[in-house]
Amino acid sequence: MPSGRHFLQIPGPTNVPDRVLRAIDRPTIDHRGPEFQKLGQEVLAGIKEIFQTRQPVIIYPASGTGAWEAALVNTLSPGDRVLMSETGHFASLWQQMAGRLGLEVELIPGDWRHGADPQEIEARLAGDRSHAIKAVCVVHNETSTGVTSRIPEIRRAIDRTGHPALFLVDTISSLGSIDYRHDEWGVDVTVSGSQKGLMLPPGLSFNAVSEKALSASRTARLPRSFWNWEEMLAANATGFFPYTPATNLLYGLKEAIAMLLEEGLPAVFARHERHAEATRRAVRGWGLEILCADPREYSAALTTVMMPEGHDADALRKAILENFDMSLGAGLTRLKGRVFRIGHLGHFNDLMLCGTLSGVEMGLRLAGVPHQAGGVQAALDHLAGSAPADEPDQ
Ligand code: PLP
Repeated sequence: MPSGRHFLQIPGPTNVPDRVLRAIDRPTIDHRGPEFQKLGQEVLAGIKEIFQTRQPVIIYPASGTGAWEAALVNTLSPGDRVLMSETGHFASLWQQMAGRLGLEVELIPGDWRHGADPQEIEARLAGDRSHAIKAVCVVHNETSTGVTSRIPEIRRAIDRTGHPALFLVDTISSLGSIDYRHDEWGVDVTVSGSQKGLMLPPGLSFNAVSEKALSASRTARLPRSFWNWEEMLAANATGFFPYTPATNLLYGLKEAIAMLLEEGLPAVFARHERHAEATRRAVRGWGLEILCADPREYSAALTTVMMPEGHDADALRKAILENFDMSLGAGLTRLKGRVFRIGHLGHFNDLMLCGTLSGVEMGLRLAGVPHQAGGVQAALDHLAGSAPADEPDQ
């Protein structure tokens, strides 16, 4: 067992703050009693602030994949057409799920280096005169690539066509790390999960739901039982759940919401931006390439780094794990071995970033990956020259 603390720098699950761990470490209570009711009411109200919504947010005892399924089965009917953009591994998994559920997927192909293209979405919707497309599905932050799609621009593109399709967005690796506004951006279902920006262990997932989505759910015919919004919302009206909730994770959620609101969401987002910029400067300092091809779409939650030709990212990650006890994200499916991912989201600060980047730089040297020294220094210079956003002005 290595001494000291493991560096968990995958892009989720992320490090869980001690405050959240302490909050979870309590006796489980009766989920039909008054003490639970108070907790239920608190978290159901508090989570809305994180989604920047006044509309209902449903909390499932499930991983993010469950919340993907819930978004589809509550709003759509067998054979409905959905428009999806191939931004990476997670968009592809959501697409695969839609197909398995009996939906007809219209896919906008992508190169895994760009986000969903607002113009292409606009063109597809404009061409769909019969309104066969019932939903547009976009992954906000594609965790496999470190590319963040421009949700407000996509909303405006949909609006320009006057097309009535629902807008479903996956924020599993952006919520609580990257600015996201469910109401203002006119999203119908926002899908999310507990284990990334929310700083919780895996096990909770979410659907934030618009009035339009709720009304679609009344006529949608895909089979649903566990995921049914109607029963959830009926029970949630008094702070309860229709089945056993993940009580202790909800204690953690209450604490995580408090932490995010104490720091203030704008400061949380600025902190992530600053760490992401320092990371990109480190990558450029090493002479390596960032996978994300469009600076407008750089992710503030993670950075995906391309390996020089002929070098294996998994060998590098193995050397870093074995020698420095740090976990970095692997390249997934078609990126396997070609990239590694640095997670810089959630419960994270300047010195954790410095440790992370130092571990990468030492690993590059140890594994014989061609690079220039000085990446860490470039990050330090950026951190020194940009005060943390939550520090009061001098
Ligand atoms: N969507 C995105 C963007 C993700 O990053 C993930 C997981 O990392 C998922 C969906 C799937 O969520 P889960 O693994 O919690 O089921």
